Amino acid sequence: MPYTAPVPEFTFLLDHVVGFDAVAGTERYGDASPDMVGAVLTEAGKLCDEVLAPLNRNGDLHPARLENGVVRTSPGFAEGYRAIADGGWVAITAAPEYGGMGLPVTVSTAVNEMMSGACLALQLNPLLTQGQIDALEHHASDEMKALYLPKLISGEWAGTMNLTEPQAGSDVGALSSKAERNDDGTYAVTGQKIFISWGDGDVTENVCHLVLARLPDGKPGTKGISLFMVPKYLPDAQGNPGVANSLKVVSLEHKMGLHGSPTCVMSYEGATGWLVGEEHDGMRAMFTMMNNARLSVGAQGIGAAEGAYQHALAYALERKQGPTPEGGIVGHADVRRMLAGMKADIFAARAISLACAVAIDMSRATESAEWTARAALLTPIAKAFGTDVGISVSEQGVQVHGGMGYVEETGAAQFYRDVRVTAIYEGTNGIQAMDLVGRKLMDGGEAANRLLDEIEANAEAARASLPDLAGAVWDAAESLRETLDGLVAQKMGERFGGAVPFLRAFARVLGGHFHLRAAMADPEGTHRRLADFYITRLLPEHTGLLAQVSAGDETLMAITTEDLAA
Ligand SMILES: Cc1cc2nc3c(=O)[nH]c(=O)nc-3n(C[C@H](O)[C@H](O)[C@H](O)COP(=O)(O)OP(=O)(O)OC[C@H]3O[C@@H](n4cnc5c(N)ncnc54)[C@H](O)[C@@H]3O)c2cc1C
Repeated sequence: MPYTAPVPEFTFLLDHVVGFDAVAGTERYGDASPDMVGAVLTEAGKLCDEVLAPLNRNGDLHPARLENGVVRTSPGFAEGYRAIADGGWVAITAAPEYGGMGLPVTVSTAVNEMMSGACLALQLNPLLTQGQIDALEHHASDEMKALYLPKLISGEWAGTMNLTEPQAGSDVGALSSKAERNDDGTYAVTGQKIFISWGDGDVTENVCHLVLARLPDGKPGTKGISLFMVPKYLPDAQGNPGVANSLKVVSLEHKMGLHGSPTCVMSYEGATGWLVGEEHDGMRAMFTMMNNARLSVGAQGIGAAEGAYQHALAYALERKQGPTPEGGIVGHADVRRMLAGMKADIFAARAISLACAVAIDMSRATESAEWTARAALLTPIAKAFGTDVGISVSEQGVQVHGGMGYVEETGAAQFYRDVRVTAIYEGTNGIQAMDLVGRKLMDGGEAANRLLDEIEANAEAARASLPDLAGAVWDAAESLRETLDGLVAQKMGERFGGAVPFLRAFARVLGGHFHLRAAMADPEGTHRRLADFYITRLLPEHTGLLAQVSAGDETLMAITTEDLAA
C-alpha cells in the first residue's frame, strides 16, 4: 500500500517540540547531530516507502502458515526482513561493542513508527528483538552477551518474549511453566506458552526465546519467577545454530488482523535454557524488555494511524459526492472534521511517544533520577494513548471511505484490524492505566507534578503571543493537577476505577502542551492551525474525563454483577 514516511514531521518535532537538543547535548549521544539524525531518518524512510509498504497487503492476504512444524511467512516477508537486517535497522540503539550503532532511543522510536506504518506485521519481529537485546544488555552474563548480542543485533537471529499461558495473561504470576536445574549449569524448561508473536519463522537462522518459568523452590506469584534464554537451535562450539532444542510450535492463531505475524502456541518439553539475571528475579529482567516494547508498541499504534490517515486523505481528495470548493469529499465539513482530528491526534500521540523516548535517553546519558522517573511516568501513557489513537484514527479512516471502507479491497479496514491488538498485547491499556495511577504515583505524584510545572511554565511563556491557546493549556494542566492531588490522597484500590480516564486526560493535556509548542515554533503555518483545532475541539475532552476520575469508584462498583446480568 502506498505510504510516505513522515520524515519532515519527525524533524520538526525533534527540532522544536520534544527537546531533543538536550539529548544531542549529552556526551553519550554527542554524535546525534541534526544532520546525522536527518540522514538516518531519510534512509529509514526510503526503506519503509520502497521495500516494506508494498509488503503490507501480502501479510493480510497470505497469512503466515505452519507446515510440518515450521512457520512459512507471507510472500516477500523474508526479503523485507533481510532489507531491515542488512540496513542495520534491527537494533540501532544497541551497544557499539556488540555491533550496534548506539543511537538514541528517540531516533529508533521514530524509525520503529515509520516501519510500523509501512508494515506492522513484519515490524513486530525486530520490535521484539530490540526488547530482547535491551534485556540482555542489562541482565545477561558477559558470556551470554558475547554469544547472543552480535547475532541479534545483526538480525541473523531473532528474539521473542514468552510470558502468556492460558491461565496467565494479565496475571503473569499465575504461570505454571517449570524449570529444573541441570547438572551442567543449564536448566530444563517445560510448559506451554500461547500467543507468542514470531515464535517461529523462516526469516532468521535461529529464534531466541526468553521464557518465564518457575524453579521448584520459586515462591508463588511474580516474585518466584525466573527468566531463561531458550534458543530454537542450541549454539555449537563456534556459536552457530547446532542441534534442535526440545521445543515446538504447536499451532498458529487465526486472528482478526496482523495476519503476517505468526502468533504461535509454543510447547517447551524439557528444553535447554540458560538463566538470565538471578534465579527467582526474572520479572526484573523481563520488565526491561516489556518497558522497551511498551514504548515501541505505542509507536506501532501511531505508525498504523499515519498509514490509515494517508490512505483516507488520498481517498477524500479523489472521491466526489456533491459540490465542494475542492471537488472531493475533503471539502465537506464533517470529512474535514474527521481528517483534522486524525491528524491532530497523530501529532499529539507522536509527540508524547518521542518525549518518552527523550526521557529514556536523558536517563541513560545522565543517570538522573528525575529523567528516570519521567520516562517511567510517560511509558504507560505513550503505550496506551499511542495505540488508542491507532485504533480511533484507523476506525475514522474506514468512515472517511464510506462503504468502500467496509470493503476489504481498499485496505482501509486492514489498518483497523491490524492495529486493534496493540491495545491488548504488551499489557492491555487497562493495565497500563493501573500502572500509571498505581506504581507511577508511588512518589506521591512528584514526577507528574514536575511535568505539570513544565507545561504551565511553557504556557506562561506563550501567553503574550498566543493568549487563548496558552490560557487553555494552563487551565487544563491545573485541572489535571487538582485531580492528581485527589487521586494521590486515595488508597491504591480506590484509584483503579478512574485509571483509564485519568491516563487519557493526562494524554489530552500533554497533547495540548505539545501542540502549543508547535504553534509557538510555526505561528503562521499548519502547526498553528492544527493547534487551534486540537486545543479548542479535542483538549476539552479532559474535563469530562477528569470528572469521571473525581467521581471515584462508588457509582461504578455499586453496579452489581447481578445488575450487569439483569
Ligand atoms: C496477536 C497477539 C500477540 C501476542 N504476543 C505475545 C507475545 O509475543 N508474548 C506473550 O507473552 N504474550 C503475547 N500476547 C498475549 C497478550 O500479552 C495478552 O493477550 C494480554 O496480556 C492480555 O492477557 P489475556 O489475553 O489473558 O487477557 P486477560 O488478562 O484475561 O484480560 C481480559 C480483560 O480483563 C482485564 N483485566 C485483567 N486483569 C485485570 C486487573 N487486574 N484489573 C483490571 N482489569 C483486568 C484486561 O485489561 C482485559 O480487558 C499476544 C496476544 C495477541 C492477541
